Amino acid sequence: MTGIDQSSLSTEAQVEHHNNLMCRRGSERVGYRKFCARCDAPGPFAPHDARRRGLRAIVEQSVVVLTLWIARWRCRKCRHVFTDTPPFVLPYKRYDASTHLRLARDYLENDRRSYRQTVRHGKLPLGYRASGNEVEERALHHMTVWRTLLWLGAQLPALASGREIILQQNPSSTCHRIVGAVAPHKFRNPQRERTLRQARQLMALITEWERTFPEKFFPRFATRSGFD
Ligand SMILES: [Zn+2]
Repeated sequence: MTGIDQSSLSTEAQVEHHNNLMCRRGSERVGYRKFCARCDAPGPFAPHDARRRGLRAIVEQSVVVLTLWIARWRCRKCRHVFTDTPPFVLPYKRYDASTHLRLARDYLENDRRSYRQTVRHGKLPLGYRASGNEVEERALHHMTVWRTLLWLGAQLPALASGREIILQQNPSSTCHRIVGAVAPHKFRNPQRERTLRQARQLMALITEWERTFPEKFFPRFATRSGFD
């Protein structure tokens, strides 16, 4: 099983590369997870099956729907079957990881930006790319931004473990002191304020993580927080 860092490529290129490696037979198929999700035994794992799903991504101000192959593997020690998500996808998320993180960052770091403005490019909505002669009227929905923030803001185990590992590596890091304050007009109650603040703390942590370590922050921590 081989995992290759493709993070400098576009999502379309990463998906194509991943799908090509997925077409290989048996244990030649690309695998990302190094330890069993249940018993922590190291791989290699036995190939189980593969299924196809749609993955949405923003490419040049349009939403494109890509076909993504996802493998399942069986642990040779405890026989647990698990889904192996490539690093550019967050488990159970419809858009690729960079789209979710880009939307969250756009909204959180621009005080005057609303949810609706976050899903527009200038005055135009981020629409789906039409295929053939069909007219395509669907566009990225502003609730996607809120759902992304809700998910990020709930990743407290990821925030805690990420901080702990960064502080071990770099004791002078201030990652645990980032407040993540958000403009007051962006929330109406303390619960929303907390969600947005925690999402912003996590975004700052991800930036520091990816400057410190070669490995992507997600899906490593999301997977360990019970999303798989
Ligand atoms: Zn196992």
